[in-house]
Amino acid sequence: MNVKKVKFIIIGGGLSGLTTANILLEKGEEDFIILEARNRAGGRIFTKEGIDLGATWFQEQHIYTNDLLKKYNLDSFKQYSRGKSVLIYNSMAPAHLFESDPNAPGAKRICGSSEALIKALSKPVTANLELDSPVTSIKMLDHYLEVKVSDQNYHAEKVIICVPPKIAKNIEYTPPLPDNLIEVMQTTHTWMSNAIKVGISYPEAFWKKKGLSGTIIGQIGPVIELYDHCNALENKYSLMGFVNEGLREETKASRKERILTYLEKHLGPEAGNYKSYIEKDWSKEKYTSGKSLKSEYMSPQYGNPIFEKTFLDGRLYFSGTETSSVYGGYLEGAIYSGLNAAKRILS
Ligand SMILES: Cc1cc2nc3c(=O)[nH]c(=O)nc-3n(C[C@H](O)[C@H](O)[C@H](O)COP(=O)(O)OP(=O)(O)OC[C@H]3O[C@@H](n4cnc5c(N)ncnc54)[C@H](O)[C@@H]3O)c2cc1C
Repeated sequence: MNVKKVKFIIIGGGLSGLTTANILLEKGEEDFIILEARNRAGGRIFTKEGIDLGATWFQEQHIYTNDLLKKYNLDSFKQYSRGKSVLIYNSMAPAHLFESDPNAPGAKRICGSSEALIKALSKPVTANLELDSPVTSIKMLDHYLEVKVSDQNYHAEKVIICVPPKIAKNIEYTPPLPDNLIEVMQTTHTWMSNAIKVGISYPEAFWKKKGLSGTIIGQIGPVIELYDHCNALENKYSLMGFVNEGLREETKASRKERILTYLEKHLGPEAGNYKSYIEKDWSKEKYTSGKSLKSEYMSPQYGNPIFEKTFLDGRLYFSGTETSSVYGGYLEGAIYSGLNAAKRILS
């Protein structure tokens, strides 16, 4: 069997793994690889046709995110919220309209979409990134860890798992990981792994012309949250939102019809005149969730201190947003854990 020897292996090429990789490179450490299961980097950051079907927003108080964007010369812009928004909170009462304060600090988006951050972080480490490489086992040997991907073996001094803990549990560990760690991995909900996102593009931002923000909020509709998703240059027009999970098992055609009818009702008949319609159900993604969720224990308690420990003779580390004691679940948590992991393996 083929064996590749490196100093460090990063498992998972999402935001946390890529953040660690870039710090290693900055510190002059080139002897590492990133093993990514999917055929793309980014994990839960995924943009298609200019629409963020994964992560979108960050806030002013997310200092690590703001710093990282600055470092890679990426600009940001405020989530559009001007005009009237629609609130539907009761199936019997009519919809309500409300306006948010345009001067209030709000959610921010990345110019060029969230994928711009992944592109910027991937570029310096392209040579280290191995796609289509799902890790199936990690074995402790005398002076290194053996990591297996299909018929390729890797030997590394240290390995960082940057995969959601619940998914990382599927890797075979020899010797087995401690029971208390397995228990925490099993019960750490993967943030947003149950989300279904929808993106609809239009020839123009008809809602803005009508004095509407594009925001529709309401747990009882086919879309529970909808927002304007035009690009920063304001020359591509779309709406993006979260689909009601009650529609998960319906056909795409049926979901689409219900969503468009709902939008036509609340934004006007122009909502039916769309250019493209796309969706993504993250619960169907093997490397994020891997199963359809009926009911899920969703404790928001991230950053369990057990993830600060090392395993398999001090050679195995955990990272990723769910392990972060700072803004766990968010982009901010992924970046913080990535920075922290780099510091830990280099110390
Ligand atoms: C729909 C949705 C909306 C979101 N919206 C926001 C938002 O607006 N703001 C915000 O702050 N956060 C948001 N998030 C959360 C945000 O996307 C995550 O916090 C962040 O992207 C996590 O990065 P990560 O690197 O920790 O994990 P991931 O992005 O999950 O990366 C893990 C990587 O590991 C890979 N992998 C898995 N198993 C293996 C294996 N066996 N071998 C090799 N590789 C493997 C995966 O393919 C993946 O690339 C959202 C998430 C989703 C899904």
